[in-house]
Amino acid sequence: MAAPRIMLVEDDESIAGALAAVLAERAFDVLHEATGRGALASAGASTPALVLLDLGLPDTDGIDVCRRLRAISPAMPILILTARDSEVDVVLGLNAGASDYITKPFRLGELFARIDAHLRHATVTREVDPATTGGVVVDREARRATRHGVELALRNKEFELLAFLVANAGRALPRERILAEVWDDRWGGASKTLDMHVSMLRRRLGPPDPIATLRGVGYRFDP
Ligand code: CA
Repeated sequence: MAAPRIMLVEDDESIAGALAAVLAERAFDVLHEATGRGALASAGASTPALVLLDLGLPDTDGIDVCRRLRAISPAMPILILTARDSEVDVVLGLNAGASDYITKPFRLGELFARIDAHLRHATVTREVDPATTGGVVVDREARRATRHGVELALRNKEFELLAFLVANAGRALPRERILAEVWDDRWGGASKTLDMHVSMLRRRLGPPDPIATLRGVGYRFDP
């Protein structure tokens, strides 16, 4: 089995160098990016198994990078690794789609334990039985989706929306979060668009309807 690839997004060369060395020692394949732009560019091409993300980056704020990475890959573990330790920052990070939030200085043993836990969880999620997602299978790499084995003809945003809903099956998803992650819209301007896409998705998926409407909240994909 190939070593899991970890993308380390960190502009501080001394931290990056030290972390890359200990990660490599633990047999991870380390890909280092020092800017947000670099991280986004290589995330699409190199499909890391997990991302360690610093927030204070020279070009883009890490929160933005997190949101975009999450849109590219709904199931990839993203661990924020930062000196920002206020509650507001932690909430912002988790709302941007981070899987975990670790503050500097961190204990190395704990960091590795968290990395292992997230990788384990991601593997289980990937291998989930299609039946548990309402017969819907989303293959991001091939960019195709099927329900009960029948391919769904989806437009770009319909596919993104379905992928996001399925990756979070069973969880209540607030409208704002869906808009931020699928449309990169943080102010709710695309609210109507979301409803239109959901109703289109329902039509394409056919009965029984796997998308529950949560009044005043958002939507939930019911497995
Ligand atoms: Ca930094």
